[in-house]
Amino acid sequence: MTESEPEAVWPTGAGFRGPESAESQTLAWKQRGYCKTMDPEVFFAEGRGNLGSIQYAKSICANKCPVQDECREYAMEFNIDHGVWGGLSTNQRTKLRRKRKAEEASEEDLAA
Ligand code: SF4
Repeated sequence: MTESEPEAVWPTGAGFRGPESAESQTLAWKQRGYCKTMDPEVFFAEGRGNLGSIQYAKSICANKCPVQDECREYAMEFNIDHGVWGGLSTNQRTKLRRKRKAEEASEEDLAA
């Protein structure tokens, strides 16, 4: 069974509804997200015409947010395929996911 992303699309906004499980206990980082009081559109302006907006969102994550790592790993864990999370765009998370899988496969090959 695969875990699915919570319905909400906003990393730390008031509309967020986390998983109904013990995982909720690990979501305290959301309360410290810099974007908590920002316009959610800043982090979900994806598409070719919005590269400037994506860069702006990524710069906020990288330069102002104390929970960048937690946010990125959360998006990775739940395969969130939209928006900037933890300073990474959707494409960057996809690339990171592929890189990690390749590294895992390589490690398994070495262990075999
Ligand atoms: S890393 Fe970025 S998207 Fe995640 S909580 Fe911080 S500011 Fe929001």
